[in-house]
Amino acid sequence: MIILRYQPRQILIDIDTQRDLLVANGAASVYNHRKILANIHRVMAAARHNHIPTISTTQVYNPDYHSPGYCLAGTNGLKKLRYTVRDNCLCYPASDSADLPLDILDRYNQVVFCKRCEDPFEEPRLDRMLTGLRADELYLIGATAEGSVKATALGLLTRGKKVTVLTDVVGTRNRPAADRAFREMAAKGAILSKATEILGPSVLRIVHACPCKHCRMAGS
Ligand SMILES: [Zn+2]
Repeated sequence: MIILRYQPRQILIDIDTQRDLLVANGAASVYNHRKILANIHRVMAAARHNHIPTISTTQVYNPDYHSPGYCLAGTNGLKKLRYTVRDNCLCYPASDSADLPLDILDRYNQVVFCKRCEDPFEEPRLDRMLTGLRADELYLIGATAEGSVKATALGLLTRGKKVTVLTDVVGTRNRPAADRAFREMAAKGAILSKATEILGPSVLRIVHACPCKHCRMAGS
């Protein structure tokens, strides 16, 4: 007898895991970046291992036009952390088009969307992707808690999605603002969890993403 078991559909939402935000010498580096870098590495590896599709966002700004001074087009700081890019990945540059194949997540392991702002719902194609998502669980990681992660979580919750924020995989530049942001997400229905609760305790280890003293010492 064959029992058909329902497989819950999980999707990882990987938000702005870029060098300027997460590496010590980045233009707008988060607080406690070493722990966040190690946890991002762990969650990305788990997504790859468990075949969980990944939707990624990156900020990109024109240096000559209202730029915030980080994630500028043509700079190294704009780049995603190496281990946040999967094989079979498709990247959409920012544009005002909303064109998007319906089966995009069946064809690619990861789709990266560039955005010219923190709120992903201000980008037409990304809005369409996230609004149309069919999933039982969306796991959010990235940076920053008070910026893009909050905007992404609240937008998804408004659209009736089930959102879990992995708070130990979310970076911040302002701890009190991050705490307020997490409370606001929870009040709107987000589940706050931790990678260590889902994947078990981990030993911090070097992930070769950042050359600062603290990150180098983690591997010794
Ligand atoms: Zn570092």
